[in-house]
Amino acid sequence: MIDVLTGERHDGRAIETADGTVTQIAAAPPAGLPDREVIDVAGRWLLPGLISCHTHLSIVFPFSATDEAENPAITAYRSGTRASEALRAGITTIRCVHEQNRADLLLRTAVRRGWFAAPRILGAGRAVSTPGGHGQGSACAYATGEQEFYAAALAELAAGADHVKIFINSGLAGPDEHYEHPEMTDGEIRGAVRAAAEHDTYVVAHSGEPTAIRQALAQGVRCFEHAYRLDDETAALLARPGVFVTPTLCVTRSESWMRAHGFEEHSIRHASQAADVHLASVQRAIRAGVTLVNGTDIPPGDLVDGTPAAVHELLLPRRSDQARLRGRFRGRSRRSAGRPGRAPRDLAGGPGRARDPGGRCMTERFTDGGEAQAGYCRAVRRGNVVTVSGTTATGPDGAALHPGDTGGQARECLRRVERALAALGAGLDDVVRTVVYLAPGASWQQAADAHRDVFAAAGNPGPANTMLYVAGLIGDGFLVEIEAQAVVLA
Ligand SMILES: [Zn+2]
Repeated sequence: MIDVLTGERHDGRAIETADGTVTQIAAAPPAGLPDREVIDVAGRWLLPGLISCHTHLSIVFPFSATDEAENPAITAYRSGTRASEALRAGITTIRCVHEQNRADLLLRTAVRRGWFAAPRILGAGRAVSTPGGHGQGSACAYATGEQEFYAAALAELAAGADHVKIFINSGLAGPDEHYEHPEMTDGEIRGAVRAAAEHDTYVVAHSGEPTAIRQALAQGVRCFEHAYRLDDETAALLARPGVFVTPTLCVTRSESWMRAHGFEEHSIRHASQAADVHLASVQRAIRAGVTLVNGTDIPPGDLVDGTPAAVHELLLPRRSDQARLRGRFRGRSRRSAGRPGRAPRDLAGGPGRARDPGGRCMTERFTDGGEAQAGYCRAVRRGNVVTVSGTTATGPDGAALHPGDTGGQARECLRRVERALAALGAGLDDVVRTVVYLAPGASWQQAADAHRDVFAAAGNPGPANTMLYVAGLIGDGFLVEIEAQAVVLA
C-alpha cells in the first residue's frame, strides 16, 4: 500500500472494503473471517487514483477541425465524455491546461452540483495565446503586450481558473510550426505572471527550447510543459524546489494513435522528428533532478496501443530505454545490458557517460547538488554495480533537515539514495551493502529503525550493513550519513 500522506510504502497490509470504499487498513485480516471474504492480492499495490497534469478535455482531432465559434454546450458534452473515460481509466485528478469555452470550469460546476461524475478538476479555463501563436485556432483567449496578457489572465482567473496557461514557444502541430520559436515578450509573460500572483497561483507554459524557458523562468513562470529540447544548463536551472516540468512524452511517441485520430501528415512528421530529442531532454531533466509530473496532451483515458494515455505516459521512458538497450546490446549478453526497463538513463551519449574500449562496461553518473566542487558524484554506475556516495539530509539551503532527529535524517538520506539509484536504473531492493555513519549524540536505534523500515518497505530483507559512530560529520547539525552499493541483476 502507498500512503500518500507520509509518502511511505507498506507491505503486507490487509485492506477492508465495504460498498466499494476502503473502510480499514490493518496489519492482518481479522481472525475467523470466512475464506470467501478474503481476496489474496499478494504482489500487487494499492494506490490512490492516477493524476494527469496536462489534460485537454475539449480538444478536437485533428486540431485544424476546431470550430472556434462552437456552441459551449457541444464543447461541454465532448469534454464530459472525455472526463468520464478518464475516471473509468483510474484517473481521479486532472489539471486542464486550456479548454475551449472554459469547459473544465463548466464541468467542475456540474460535478459540484452533483449532476455529473468526473475526476477532480484543476482548470486553466482558456489558455492565453499571442495572435498567430501556438494557440491560434484552438479557441484560446488572445492578447498582445503586457497589459492585455495581464487582463486576459485575470479574466480566466475571475471565471474560476486555478492557474494560467500560456505558450512561450511554437509547437509541433502546424505545417510551418517549430518548437524552437519563442513567441512571447518578457512583458507579456510578466503580465500573465502578475495576474497569477495576485490570485496566489502560478503560470504553466507550453515550452520547447532553452531560450524561452530561461526567459520565462526569469519572469517567474514555475511550470513547463513538453520541454522538447533542454540543455544541461537549463535543466540545472529547472532543478529547483517549486519548479515543475510535465514531459508529455506521449506527444512525440504515439504515431499509431495520431493516425487513428486523423492527424495531418505534417503533424505526425514533426512529432516523430522530435521524438529522440524529446526523450534525451527528459532524461537530461531526470539526471539534473528536475521535479517531473505526469501528464499527456492526449485525453488521459484515451487508449494508446491499448493502454490509457495517462498510464502509457508513465511507461514511456522505460519502454524507450528497453528499445535502445536492445539495439545497443544486440548480440551481447543480457548481463552487460544491466536490467533493461528500469528508470530512465542517459544512453544517448550525454556528458557524464563513458564506455570502456571493449564497449561492454558502461559508466554512468548522477549528480544532485554541488558534488562537482569536491570532484565526486552522488552515484556512479559501472556495469551492474551502482555505488552511492555518503549522503546526508541536506536541505535546499545546505543546512541539515530534521534538526536533532536521527530517524528523520536517516529516512531523508535513504530517500536521496533511492532517487540516485533510480536515476541509474536501480532500486532499494537492489542494495547489497550500506554503511551508516553517526555523529556523536546521534541515536543509533533511530537510525537502525529507519534503515530497517525503509528497506523492508522496498522489499529488501536487508543489505549487509556496517554502522559506526565517528568523531564527527562535516557540517553542523548532521547526525547521520549513509552510503550504499547496489548490484542490478540481469
Ligand atoms: Zn497541451
